[in-house]
Amino acid sequence: MRISGWGRFPYIEAEGLHFETRRRLACRLEELSDCIVHARGRSYGDSALSERVVLTNRFDKILAFDEVSGILTCESGVTLSEIIDAFLPRGWFPSITPGTRFISIGGAIASDVHGKNHHKAGCFSECIVSFDLMLPDGSIVRCSREENSDLFHATCGGMGLTGIILEATLRLQAVQSGYIRETVIRCGNLDEVFHQFEAHHDTTYSVAWIDCLARGRKQGRSVLMLGEHADSGRLIPPPAKSFSIPFDSPAFLLNRFSIVSFNHLYYEIHPDFVDGRLVPIDTFFYPLDKIGNWNRMYGSGGFTQYQFVLPRAASRKGLSTILDRISQAGMGSFLAVLKLFGPRNQNPLSFPMEGYTLALDFKIQKKLFPLLDELDRIVLDHGGRLYLTKDVRMPAAVFRNGYPAWERFTALRGQYGMDRKFNSLQSRRLGIQA
Ligand SMILES: Cc1cc2nc3c(=O)[nH]c(=O)nc-3n(C[C@H](O)[C@H](O)[C@H](O)COP(=O)(O)OP(=O)(O)OC[C@H]3O[C@@H](n4cnc5c(N)ncnc54)[C@H](O)[C@@H]3O)c2cc1C
Repeated sequence: MRISGWGRFPYIEAEGLHFETRRRLACRLEELSDCIVHARGRSYGDSALSERVVLTNRFDKILAFDEVSGILTCESGVTLSEIIDAFLPRGWFPSITPGTRFISIGGAIASDVHGKNHHKAGCFSECIVSFDLMLPDGSIVRCSREENSDLFHATCGGMGLTGIILEATLRLQAVQSGYIRETVIRCGNLDEVFHQFEAHHDTTYSVAWIDCLARGRKQGRSVLMLGEHADSGRLIPPPAKSFSIPFDSPAFLLNRFSIVSFNHLYYEIHPDFVDGRLVPIDTFFYPLDKIGNWNRMYGSGGFTQYQFVLPRAASRKGLSTILDRISQAGMGSFLAVLKLFGPRNQNPLSFPMEGYTLALDFKIQKKLFPLLDELDRIVLDHGGRLYLTKDVRMPAAVFRNGYPAWERFTALRGQYGMDRKFNSLQSRRLGIQA
């Protein structure tokens, strides 16, 4: 089969291994020398790519649900979308969700994903009670904060490199409505948006779209969206209109002019302030899911998302330097998304640390990687790091600098023989071996 991550770069030929039962998977695993799980392929780069991939999409059963506590047990191939469809009508919603609902529970744990509420609620691992993990020899261990806690922490954010997550038990949050009460604030520059993020620290959800090509006094102009779960409105909002991009965009459509125009228009169409309007949950959390195959927008050569985080104290200066460099290079992004993170957790490869994170999409082109190498240096100089689940080109030295716990992680891989069984193109590039 021909596979890629969401960025459609690179594409590789891989042998795909389906499984429906634990026993069948354990037998096959014994024969395999090297593999990695490829779940829903929503990671952007090469973390779910290898010559042999374990496919979890048939491992998709919901196993138990407690209507009183909201505790759900399901197989790891179940998607957030399936959970929302089944449980939102009953008043339950994931307590942490990324910007797409089309990811698996296994993928959410392995990337330890974050949402617009990281500053209040932390990463996805916060809602995980326990999971079952298949180790390289086919044996299965239950992992939680109390049981096999070294495996629990290494697997949350461990990018599939510690084993195969088979099923998980997680906590959903109770909601009264399928709507979010959203406040929108237009901010004229970076100082204003930072001020607003800090002023609304107590708001549950916050995210800003930022015009990454605006310069001078307008640098960092943004539209900040704040949200709280509504206590009115139906649990099932009417379905949003969706459409699909049927073919790859021609390369000429994506240039500095079209990006500047789009960003300008997007900023201008928003009023300065909208207070407390009701928007359906899907519109607030998953605006891009309405556009099928939106990853085709970047043309047949694909794209990458560059997401970094900077410590809070260094965020203002570091972001300004990075935005200067991007706008000089004229390689902007339609979608630059700024979020505020709360404190880091103890999982060695989890991405968030207290500070600000910016995610930018870039079309793959020859002059891109030298620019990203420069941005890497700025990120490291400011004490930050890059997100593994978006990465396709980070050098090993940048990884090691950004993730000081990498040695602890690779030592654990060596101890359990994981480095002889579970590897991805990314883990080889980053040298995550004992
Ligand atoms: C539009 C869009 C918006 C996004 N927004 C956010 C966001 O706001 N925040 C955020 O944190 N992320 C975000 N992401 C990234 C996405 O949430 C993660 O990449 C997620 O891990 C993808 O899950 P998946 O099921 O597609 O896994 P894949 O992409 O298939 O795999 C991702 C990683 O998880 C591992 N893995 C998957 N299943 C298992 C398993 N059962 N056992 C062991 N390892 C496993 C894989 O080996 C791989 O390393 C976004 C992605 C898109 C496309």
